[in-house]
Amino acid sequence: MAISTESRTFRQRIIDLPVGRKLFVGFAALTCVLALVIGCLLLTVSRLGAANDHIVGVAADRSQSADHLRFAAAELRAAQQAYVLAGPATRTQFDRAAGQFETALQDLRQSGGDPVARALIQKIATGYQTFLGTDQLIWEALQSGNQVLARNLTLGAESLAFGFMADDASKFAESAEAGRLDAVARFRDTSSDARALGVVLSIVALVVMTLASWAITKLIRDPLHRVQQAAERAAEGDLEAEADVNGDDETGRLARAFNSMLSKLRLREETLLADHRRQETSSKVHRALEMSDDESTALEVVGLTIAEVLPGRSAELLLADNSKSNLEQAVVAGDNPDGPGCPVASPFSCVAVRSGSAVTFASSTALDACPHLRNRGVAPCSAVCVPVTFMGRAIGVIHAVGVEDQVPHVNEIEALSMLSTQAGARIGMLRTMVRTQEQASTDSLTGLINRRTFQTRIRALRRNNTRFVLVMADIDHFKKVNDTYGHETGDRALKTFCEVAKSSLRETDLMARWGGEEFAFAFRDLDATQARDVIDRIRLELSARLSTSDLPGFTASFGIVAADCCASLEDAVRLADDSLYQAKAQGRNCSVIASTETTIPGTATAQPMVRVTEKLRSNVVGVLASLARDDDPLDR
Ligand code: GH3
Ligand code: MG
Ligand code: MG
Repeated sequence: MAISTESRTFRQRIIDLPVGRKLFVGFAALTCVLALVIGCLLLTVSRLGAANDHIVGVAADRSQSADHLRFAAAELRAAQQAYVLAGPATRTQFDRAAGQFETALQDLRQSGGDPVARALIQKIATGYQTFLGTDQLIWEALQSGNQVLARNLTLGAESLAFGFMADDASKFAESAEAGRLDAVARFRDTSSDARALGVVLSIVALVVMTLASWAITKLIRDPLHRVQQAAERAAEGDLEAEADVNGDDETGRLARAFNSMLSKLRLREETLLADHRRQETSSKVHRALEMSDDESTALEVVGLTIAEVLPGRSAELLLADNSKSNLEQAVVAGDNPDGPGCPVASPFSCVAVRSGSAVTFASSTALDACPHLRNRGVAPCSAVCVPVTFMGRAIGVIHAVGVEDQVPHVNEIEALSMLSTQAGARIGMLRTMVRTQEQASTDSLTGLINRRTFQTRIRALRRNNTRFVLVMADIDHFKKVNDTYGHETGDRALKTFCEVAKSSLRETDLMARWGGEEFAFAFRDLDATQARDVIDRIRLELSARLSTSDLPGFTASFGIVAADCCASLEDAVRLADDSLYQAKAQGRNCSVIASTETTIPGTATAQPMVRVTEKLRSNVVGVLASLARDDDPLDR
C-alpha cells in the first residue's frame, strides 16, 4: 500500500512538473541514455583494442624471441664448427654465440605462453643442455688433439641436439605465429561481437528513447488534449464541459483557469436565464393585466400567477376596499379553497405593508413571527407577505404559507414582488378608471347618472327594442325656492326629490339629472299609464316627505311618452318635453301623457306645440341637436 502511495506521489510529482522542466528532464534523460550507450560502446571497443594489442604484442614478442633463438642456434652451430675446424683460437666466438642463445632462451622463457609453448621451451632448454654436454666432449676431444673425434661429435651434435634445438625453435616460432594469428582472429570475433552488441544497444537505446519520447509527449499532450476537447465543447455552447486535468503544471493551471472560467460563465448564464425568465413572466403578467379591463379579470390573472410562482403553497391576495381601511380576501390560490386566511383587518395592521417590502417568516411558532400568523391556530408553517401598492399607497398584500422552515426561494419572492407591483398598478388604475368613469357619468350633487349617460342607455334600450316610457320632469318654481331659502336649501330640495323618486323606481328603471332642476326617467316594460301611476306615487311621496322635513314645500311637473310609439328617440324626447311644458301650462304639479287625449286631475294630455314658449322651443331644439351629435347642450 505504501509503495502504491509512493508511486502515486512520484507519478503525481512528475505530472506536476512544469512542461518546460518535463521536456528538459525527459530529453536530459534520453541524452544520458544515449551517452551511456555510446560510452559503453567506446569503452568496449577500446578495451577490445587494448586486449588485442596486448595479445598481438605478446605473440610478436614470442615470435621475435623464437627468431632470435633460431638465429642464435645457427650462430652457435657456426661458432662450434669454426673452432672445431680452425682450432681453439676461435672458441670466444662460440662463447659469445652461446651467450646470445641463452639470452634468447631467457627472453623466450619470460614471454610465458601457453602450456604447449612452455613445453617447447623446456624441450629447447633440455636440447641446449644436451648440446652443451656434447660440446664439452667435442672441446675435450679437440684439447686432446683428437680432431676426428671432435668432428664426428660435431656432426652428431648437429644431427641430434642442435638440429633438435633449432627444430623446436622453429616450431615455437610457428606456434607463436599461430598464437598471433589466433589473437587476431579472436579480435575479429570480439570486434564482430562488439559490433553486434553496439547494434543491439543502439536498438535498445532507440526503443528506450522512442518509448521515453512517447511517454513524455503523452504526458504533455493528453492533458492538453483534454483541455482542447473541453474548450471545443464550450465553444459549441456546452458550458457543462470540464477539462479533467489534475496536474499542477502549466496545463493543469490552464485547465483549472478554464474550468473556473466556465463555472463563472455557467453562473452568469443562470443569472441571465433567471433574469430572462423573470422578464418573460413579468411581460406575460403585464400583458395579461393590460388585457384585464375590470378588477375581477385582473384578480383572476393575479390568482393564476401566484399559483404559477408558488406551486404547492396556499396563497391569497388581500385587498383594501374603497375606504382603504379594510382588507378583504380578493383572490385565493393553491389547494386550500379558503386560502391561508390571514385575519389582518386593515393595511396598517399588516407587517409587510408597514415595512413596504416582502417579509418572510420561517416558522409561525417563532417569537418574531407575525402575530397574525402565530395566533392563527393552524399547524406550524412558514409564510411570505408582499405588500401591494399603488402610487406609493398600500392597497393590499399577497400572503402565502408553506411547510415550516421552507420559505420561498429568493427568485420566487422577487417574482411575487414583481406581481405585486404590476397588480397594484393595474388594480389601482382600474379603480381610478372606474371612479373617473363614475364621475364622468354621474351627477355629483344627486349621485344620479347625467344626461349623456341617460341618453346612451335609452339609445341602447331602443336598439334592443326594449319597450320603455320616457318621462321628463321639472321642479316647479324652483327659482323661488332658491331665491327665498338660499341655494343650499335648493340643493337639499333637489337631493330630497331624487331620494323620493328613486325609492319608487325598480332596478331596471333609469333616472337621470337632465340639467338644473330637470330630471328624466325611463321605465322599462311599462305603458304610459303605468308610468303615470308611478309618477303620481312619486308626487304623493314627495308631498308626504316635505311635510315632515324642514324643507319648503315644492312640487314637480312631468311629461310622459311611450318611446315605442315614436318614430325616433328625438321624437320621444321632444314629445316628452312638450308634454312637460303642457303640464306647466296647465298649472304645474301634474303629469301629461303625450300620446293620449285624456287629462285626469293633476294629469293632462299633450296639446299642440303652439303653447310652447320660445324658451322651451330653443331648449328642445338644443336637446334634439345633442342627441343627433351625441353632445350635451348644457356643457356648452
Ligand atoms: P318653472 O316652474 O317654470 O320651471 O319655474 P322655475 O323657477 O323652476 O324655472 P327656472 O328655469 O326659471 O329656474 C330654474 C332654477 O333652478 C334656476 C336655477 O338657479 C335653479 N337651479 C338650477 N340648478 C340648480 C342647482 O343645482 N341647485 C340649486 N340650488 N338651484 C339650481
Ligand atoms: Mg326648468
Ligand atoms: Mg322649474
